[in-house]
Amino acid sequence: ISFGHFGFDEDLMDAIARCGYTEPSGIQRQAIPVALEGRDIIGIAKTGSGKTAAFVLPMLIHIMDQAELVKGDGPIGLVLAPTRELAHQIYIESKKFAKAYGLKVAAVYGGASKMDQFKELRSGTVEILVATPGRLIDMIKMKATNLRRVSYLVLDEADRMFDLGFEPQVRSICDNVRPDRQTLLFSATFQKRVEKLAREVMDEPVRISV
Ligand code: AMP
Repeated sequence: ISFGHFGFDEDLMDAIARCGYTEPSGIQRQAIPVALEGRDIIGIAKTGSGKTAAFVLPMLIHIMDQAELVKGDGPIGLVLAPTRELAHQIYIESKKFAKAYGLKVAAVYGGASKMDQFKELRSGTVEILVATPGRLIDMIKMKATNLRRVSYLVLDEADRMFDLGFEPQVRSICDNVRPDRQTLLFSATFQKRVEKLAREVMDEPVRISV
């Protein structure tokens, strides 16, 4: 199967081609159709599997499908990642695709200036936000952004977020995103505590492993 099977429009197909992707990877083949149906997903996949595009491409469709996409306050797609390196990678990868629709992506993470990130979030409308959990909570407390519009939530490398002690922050963020959201969780391993989180924050998730 090719990217054409997902029903993407020409703008997105062009962006995919420009990235040099000729055919979808295993996780993309399995996860994209399920995510496009609006289902929650538990994806057991490692970095290098192509998981980023597996959650970013359906996220763009989700955002473009909003009945009224008004330039508004706060992101619609939110991606939580354990480290600034991963958050930055996801940011770079999503920007390549988001360009196809003129959507704005921002990233906030620890170890960089809070003031710069605050200004970036406040300065314009952001449809997609990639964040490490602690820094996102700081930004919300500073009123740089809010989670009111989030309806597509990705927890990337959930096991590593737990290993790094972000479980309370991840739970607090999940509790503050509207319950009718779509949630996608990716993890390299499926430990008991990840399974427990999945049961608590997801709605009849489809489990995919590659
Ligand atoms: P990820 O696992 O999302 O970090 O992706 C690993 C690397 O594979 C990144 O450099 C992606 O740009 C690249 N990649 C992802 N999907 C594809 C694809 N379908 N074809 C070619 N390269 C891809």
